[in-house]
Amino acid sequence: MTRTARCVCGQLSVSVEGEPSGVYACSCKKCQRGSGSAFSYAGQFKKAALTVSGEHTAYRSEHAG
Ligand SMILES: [Zn+2]
Repeated sequence: MTRTARCVCGQLSVSVEGEPSGVYACSCKKCQRGSGSAFSYAGQFKKAALTVSGEHTAYRSEHAG
């Protein structure tokens, strides 16, 4: 299965292939701010499963979870 996310303007997309190695929900303050809700949900994929299309920069966050 391929899952694809796109930004609102459509110039940047990220696709992942296969099933996630892990899925979690987090309610830390950082995740609340990022999602605009009480929780965020995330899936973890191996880097080889990821394809990024479009101009992008990197953002790395140290997350305790
Ligand atoms: Zn969190």
